[in-house]
Amino acid sequence: MTTTSVSTFSAPKGTYDLIPPDSAEFLAVREALAAPLRRAGYGYVETPGFEQVELFSRGVGESTDIVTKEMYTLTTRGGDELALRPEGTASVLRAALQANLHRGALPVKLWYSGSYYRYERPQAGRYRHFSQIGAEALGAEDPALDAELIILADDAYRSLGLRGFRLLLNSLGDRECRPVYRAALQEFLRRLDLDEETRRRIEINPLRVLDDKREAVQRQLTDAPMMRDHLCEACKAYHEQVRELLTAAGVAFEDDPRLVRGLDYYTRTTFEFVHDGLGSQSAVGGGGRYDGLSEMIGGPELPSVGWALGVDRTVLALRAEGVRPQVAAGPRVYAVPLGEEARRTLFGVVTRLRREGVAADFAFGGKGLKNAMKSANRSGARWALVLGERDLAEGTVQLKDLESGEQEAVPLDRVVTAVQAKVG
Ligand code: ATP
Ligand code: MG
Repeated sequence: MTTTSVSTFSAPKGTYDLIPPDSAEFLAVREALAAPLRRAGYGYVETPGFEQVELFSRGVGESTDIVTKEMYTLTTRGGDELALRPEGTASVLRAALQANLHRGALPVKLWYSGSYYRYERPQAGRYRHFSQIGAEALGAEDPALDAELIILADDAYRSLGLRGFRLLLNSLGDRECRPVYRAALQEFLRRLDLDEETRRRIEINPLRVLDDKREAVQRQLTDAPMMRDHLCEACKAYHEQVRELLTAAGVAFEDDPRLVRGLDYYTRTTFEFVHDGLGSQSAVGGGGRYDGLSEMIGGPELPSVGWALGVDRTVLALRAEGVRPQVAAGPRVYAVPLGEEARRTLFGVVTRLRREGVAADFAFGGKGLKNAMKSANRSGARWALVLGERDLAEGTVQLKDLESGEQEAVPLDRVVTAVQAKVG
């Protein structure tokens, strides 16, 4: 046993470690969230954990909380200004443009999985290091693409057994109708009783004020003009198609005219998946269309849509519902050697079993029979292979069913086939 001392390190504030057995749950959730994307033709993309600060200040938006308050920035020894990535979309778009993917067949459909960093006030479900699965479909303006992504996220949650989530849907308009709405909203907001910072926000990004979580602000917004009533004909028709496709696919949604989300780059379709078992950190995932983002980071016109699902919060939501994701199986066979020679022989058997695709583990550390059998039971394996001196002399090994307690001797030279026949 080690004892804790003042010199013991702990994980930084707002972070936590993934440790067995819980880590298996995380892996299973990541797998399940990504599986529908793979089936739908999304290719895997991986970008660095940090980027030039510029990419995010231009791509996420100078006026967002993410850029103004939450970004981890650093200056390298060489003088580069970098930021730990706070989100995935800007990086993925940057990578796609850099690789000229947008000059090939469109849309370019990509998915990713990774760690993101935001300097936030840590709370349950809100961390400084968290994990997302994301998807981006670049270079097509097609309501079916928006619908596809939303359906895939809904499928992903459902495949995990998650039920208590809701899909909120809105349209934020486009470069034609949004400016008109923006001006109307600003005019309304300027008349309200708001603090200095919020007043500044009205001038830079008034839509974000609608997203203010404070009760005192929300109370004043009851009669605020809504984007819904200002959509141009093209945006209205586009949104109607997205809604129809979702309905046809059996995906339930709630129209939420106040949904704006925290990033500047969204246009038209905007959505969020919320879970009611999570308290105030209720968003398990979200996304939308970002037709202007490519140009904002110096690329060509490239209308696109995407989402990011929070792995940490999805795990919490599953726990809140009492649902355990199907985790990858542990060892099927646990090998218990008694004595030095048995150890060498049985270690060889374990290696052969693994090479034949049978998940197997071994009693390391020269444990006695009692302790080793305890480990075998704890491992979750159904079968134990016990090799003692008498078995060795007879050229056999005991194959024990840990559920029924039954055991039989199998010839050592046929042990792999014998185990395979049992284990299936
Ligand atoms: P919130 O409104 O809760 O701050 P957000 O709008 O900032 O969420 P996005 O940038 O859309 O979140 O990220 C997508 C998903 O990533 C969120 O729905 C959430 O599940 C997860 N997420 C975002 N920030 C955090 C965080 N600090 N800790 C854990 N998960 C997070
Ligand atoms: Mg946030």
